[in-house]
Amino acid sequence: MGAIVEKGKEPSVLTSTQDIIHQALGKLGYSDEMFELLKEPIRMLTVRIPVRMDDGTVKVFTGYRAQHNDAVGPTKGGVRFHPEVTEDEVKALSLWMTLKCGIVNVPYGGGKGGIVCDPRNMSFPEIERLSRGYVRAISQLVGPSKDIPAPDVFTNSQIMAWMVDEYSRIREFDSPGFITGKPVALGGSHGRETATATGVTICIEEAAKLKQLDLQQAKVIIQGFGNAGSYLSKILSERGAKIIGISDAYAALYDENGLDIEYLLDKRDSFGTVTTLFTNKITNQELLTKKCDILVPAAIANQITSENADKINASIIVEAANGPTTTEATKILAERGVLIVPDVLASSGGVTVSYFEWVQNNLGYYWSEEEVAEKLRSKVVDAFHQVVETARRHKVDPRLAAYMIGVRKTAEASRFRGWI
Ligand code: GLU
Repeated sequence: MGAIVEKGKEPSVLTSTQDIIHQALGKLGYSDEMFELLKEPIRMLTVRIPVRMDDGTVKVFTGYRAQHNDAVGPTKGGVRFHPEVTEDEVKALSLWMTLKCGIVNVPYGGGKGGIVCDPRNMSFPEIERLSRGYVRAISQLVGPSKDIPAPDVFTNSQIMAWMVDEYSRIREFDSPGFITGKPVALGGSHGRETATATGVTICIEEAAKLKQLDLQQAKVIIQGFGNAGSYLSKILSERGAKIIGISDAYAALYDENGLDIEYLLDKRDSFGTVTTLFTNKITNQELLTKKCDILVPAAIANQITSENADKINASIIVEAANGPTTTEATKILAERGVLIVPDVLASSGGVTVSYFEWVQNNLGYYWSEEEVAEKLRSKVVDAFHQVVETARRHKVDPRLAAYMIGVRKTAEASRFRGWI
């Protein structure tokens, strides 16, 4: 396909994801027909959700749910609440979920949802009414063996609780397996809240071994202080790594001698905002180019681009966010010998424990925190080494290797079902 890139402009996340899927399918020997099937979601629903606001007015929100491919099993993926959600982004995110599920080998295709809204400026009751309205709008298309939502940017276990309550009311029976990332009291799994950060940590440990870097001595920068970024800063600082920079949506904090993570975690609000309390700040872009051993973009897409890739000063990048590095930037960084652990591998811990949660809901039998942690470690370590091995064997970069592993099962299942 070969995306055409205008100077100074990079292709959209959807176009670049399609491009790498095309290359991965080619390497695996699949025809262009398979690419035609997999380049877009098989189903895309747009909904309009009327919500009574606290001041008595009604606001109508736009929401999406994309189901990429259900050849392997039900579709799976989070729902984000963000003012910049677009249809194309939700589509790309559903493609990424297929890849993540393939990489950690859980029996799902990819799905994703989003609502264009800014929960930072909404009250709790307004967020609850919006969450319930979204479930009513998509209820025909989702379910424990159809499509299983989960948390994503600016959504959390409380929102999952409202959503499962609404779904169970509509269906008139208890359906814990409809959604994952629930509070433990409602059938959530131990370890789900910290799962993404734990998966990223496992990838960091394995990458550090490859680069012969001692984690205890490592200087780490984390862009983003949401679910993944905040738990990651906690886990890594407890392990002895020095967190020298963090950021939120507004600004960044940097100290080459290490930040007081415990203090920052205590001060952050539920959306991960903390920099508003400080005056000695730098910008997110400045933070990304500071010297460190490990850089973890854990915020939003398109942060490392052709504009700043040659200024990145880290030897390992572990992508906790979805799509933080553009295709052009990936090339520049690979040439410079920077090891990139791609998003579809590094951020797969969340969906892995979501799968464990769904299995426990279906069984009605619940595992201990230790059992979940052990199963998660085994899946992520295995996935990491498969990606490294595939990259080596096929002489491709880790991102393309991860896509090859990620797309293979869905392509195979689509072929066995006779769709292609
Ligand atoms: N939203 C998370 C992701 O992007 C988790 C999805 C899930 O648990 O289904 O991977």
